[in-house]
Amino acid sequence: MKPVIKALLIERMGILIKNATSNARVHPELAQRQAMLAKRLSTKYRIRMPYELRIHYCKRCKQFIVPGFTARIRIGRSNVKSIRITCNFCNHTYRKIIKNKF
Ligand SMILES: [Zn+2]
Repeated sequence: MKPVIKALLIERMGILIKNATSNARVHPELAQRQAMLAKRLSTKYRIRMPYELRIHYCKRCKQFIVPGFTARIRIGRSNVKSIRITCNFCNHTYRKIIKNKF
């Protein structure tokens, strides 16, 4: 696939997810549909979603989750810098390690 098309599709997924996040509280069904469309784009054209977009989906049930609304984000308490994400749909908690950039 041409890199131009790939960039365009990724941009489109970004817009869909951005809209879904802002719609989540007022129109949950619409947000769910927009998130599904974004996911379908990535599977149909076989492109990996960028990290910033992938974190909007639950690792286990692949549902679209919104921090503070359908997901709970807590800071990890161990020495490893991490955040803990709890999905409200399947109650699954998983960790994301925050890499130290310095
Ligand atoms: Zn889940």
